[in-house]
Amino acid sequence: MQFTMTPEQESFRQRVKGFIDKEIKPVYENPPRNGAEEYEQWYVATVKDLGKKIAAAGWLGLGWPQEYGGRPGTWREQLIFKEEMGYYENWGLNRQGVNMAGPVLLGSGDEEQKKRFLPPMVNGQEWWCQGYSEPESGSDLASLATSAERDGDYFRVNGQKVWTSQANLADWIFMLVRTDPNAPKHRGISMLLVDMHSPGITVRPIVQMHGSTDENEVFFVDVMVPAENLVGEVNRGWYVAMNQLSGERSQIDFVSTLRHYLDDLASYVKERPLAADPIVRNMLADRYIECNIARLINYRVAWLQSVGGDVSASASICKAIVGPLSQRIMGTAMRVLGLHGQLGRYGEEVKNAPFHGKFMVWYLKAVSRTFNAGTHEIQLNIIATRGLGLPQG
Ligand SMILES: Cc1cc2nc3c(=O)[nH]c(=O)nc-3n(C[C@H](O)[C@H](O)[C@H](O)COP(=O)(O)OP(=O)(O)OC[C@H]3O[C@@H](n4cnc5c(N)ncnc54)[C@H](O)[C@@H]3O)c2cc1C
Repeated sequence: MQFTMTPEQESFRQRVKGFIDKEIKPVYENPPRNGAEEYEQWYVATVKDLGKKIAAAGWLGLGWPQEYGGRPGTWREQLIFKEEMGYYENWGLNRQGVNMAGPVLLGSGDEEQKKRFLPPMVNGQEWWCQGYSEPESGSDLASLATSAERDGDYFRVNGQKVWTSQANLADWIFMLVRTDPNAPKHRGISMLLVDMHSPGITVRPIVQMHGSTDENEVFFVDVMVPAENLVGEVNRGWYVAMNQLSGERSQIDFVSTLRHYLDDLASYVKERPLAADPIVRNMLADRYIECNIARLINYRVAWLQSVGGDVSASASICKAIVGPLSQRIMGTAMRVLGLHGQLGRYGEEVKNAPFHGKFMVWYLKAVSRTFNAGTHEIQLNIIATRGLGLPQG
């Protein structure tokens, strides 16, 4: 593949950057700093507002068919957009919608579903979340127990999902449910699209150690879901989900987030005597090189996807590289920032915290990067079996 960008692609990047500098950067850099509660309320209101601006500017649904609200765009442009949004941590992007639910529907949805669900996704009107994991089903996802029993023209859904990112913001969830408890476990699963405002759904935030409440538990008690919201065939949802997961594990946006943190760190070091410290210089140079390698590997996966190649092992390679890399970068940050790096983002602390405490948050967040979206060990298993052809362990 060709790694360099054409002048047209560079000019597309400048247009995206121009938009982000104007609309997203000021919000990203100036959140309220009084306390967690105020921050969370502000966050919920702000991201949705920004989401509408991103949609209105025409950045969503690049390369999707126009009859479903899509805009002309190549895979390279999608990649550039993801990279630039990732630099600002995808602020305002309905990532679970446009990057996950959208491709699920484009690949496996029927005509009615595409017409109903894709335009509001692209217009920034409806936000989505992904309901796969359950308290007893993470790595062994196929053991999931949330049930959907056919009841006339509906499915009756009962059970619980966990770690559901942005369920607090979402209008819809694409979720895996068990429709045949007697079939072999991979063959009794279906995918449903469920209105998050339905009676019987409760969302409970999980407060994480860095204070954010973006992840949630979602409970379903006798939730009635119209049968036409089944994606693909009944009991074939596992295969629909697996295609989507490969896409989720290619992480160009997150590599870009890491690059932003490294750029911040380099600018911090440059202004201090630390800049002459050979250990600091070596650590930073190593992290930049690792980040650039991760970027190029992710480019290759995006290209493979664009030509319809099998990305399962390659996407796992991306995930297996980027998760531990994020922890190394945040570890490096803590060594460079010293005790100040531990200061948080609110109240008195933030006044003395470098970069308003964002490194403290990400140092803690990075812990989960080797298990969210499929653990590190599971990625290694996929690389061994599907990439190298080794037998199942
Ligand atoms: C921040 C965050 C956001 C998330 N967002 C979402 C979301 O939006 N939607 C969603 O559905 N889920 C989400 N998840 C859930 C995530 O996908 C699961 O946490 C993940 O799949 C691991 O499952 P688990 O937590 O049950 O761990 P387990 O599966 O219980 O794993 C525990 C340990 O055992 C190891 N292990 C398990 N099986 C094997 C094996 N076969 N071989 C080797 N080692 C093994 C694992 O690697 C791990 O170290 C999120 C998780 C986090 C932390």
